[in-house]
Amino acid sequence: MKRLQDKVAVITGGGSGIGAATAALFAQEGARVMVVGRNEEKLRKTVQAINQEHVSYTVADVSQVEDTQRYLREAVERHGGLDILVSNAGIQGEFRPISDIPVESFDSVMAINVRGTWLAIKYAFPELQKRGGGSIILTSSAGGLGGMGISSPYVTSKHAVVGLARAAAIDGAPHRIRVNAVCPGPVDNDMMTNVERTLGAGNEAAIREWVAGRVPLKRFASNEEVARLNLFLASDDSSYCTGGAYPVDGGWSSSLP
Ligand code: NAD
Repeated sequence: MKRLQDKVAVITGGGSGIGAATAALFAQEGARVMVVGRNEEKLRKTVQAINQEHVSYTVADVSQVEDTQRYLREAVERHGGLDILVSNAGIQGEFRPISDIPVESFDSVMAINVRGTWLAIKYAFPELQKRGGGSIILTSSAGGLGGMGISSPYVTSKHAVVGLARAAAIDGAPHRIRVNAVCPGPVDNDMMTNVERTLGAGNEAAIREWVAGRVPLKRFASNEEVARLNLFLASDDSSYCTGGAYPVDGGWSSSLP
């Protein structure tokens, strides 16, 4: 028996990186999956690569109320309900000391990473209740468990996501809705490549080496290593886990600076 047989899963930020790997793994484990994101080309490629009947996409901006209501409605209409939500869409924001970050830049990170996550939970709850419960997984970060310099909007937003998991877990418990956060360290994908490009300015390899050197396991995670934690939290294997914030960071968050 596959671990997510006939479950319906919505994955935001599913057109790339962790979200795309999670969609592929969930589909392999029998789920009907809808990926959500802003970039239609990436979403189409994700769905084509998975190449299974019950996998689809929709374009939406997770920070918008109407878009959130629509993508959840579309998932229910296409697949007959909702059992699993992976609220994973997120942006990094600017790398600068707090005094140099424009207020608008802070607002845009909070709109996607926090408001988008809160909206997803708010509108998913009634659909999960109709199924007698479900699992919600929020992508936070190792930056949601501790501080990092020149990243105040991102770190603030990812701490908020951990808080959201804890608060929503209590609201969800009477309805058998479990809510957990995953906290990846550096992952080998576009987001980290952009970080290296932004901070490295021609010497990306040095930035990568420096970041990897701070991780006790001395390497980045793959998207699939994060997806496997998502699978555990989505499946009944984690039936007693709710309100947790789970590092998948090679030891980063437990090591001293
Ligand atoms: P990624 O940049 O490939 O994925 C982010 C996805 O979110 C993209 O597909 C993007 O199109 C989508 N997105 C952004 N804003 C959106 C919006 N307003 N509406 C809909 N979709 C939107 O990188 P990733 O690593 O796969 O990121 C997934 C999550 O993992 C993010 O929340 C990120 O903060 C978190 N994370 C990443 C790392 C890392 O090292 N890559 C580490 C810790 C946490």
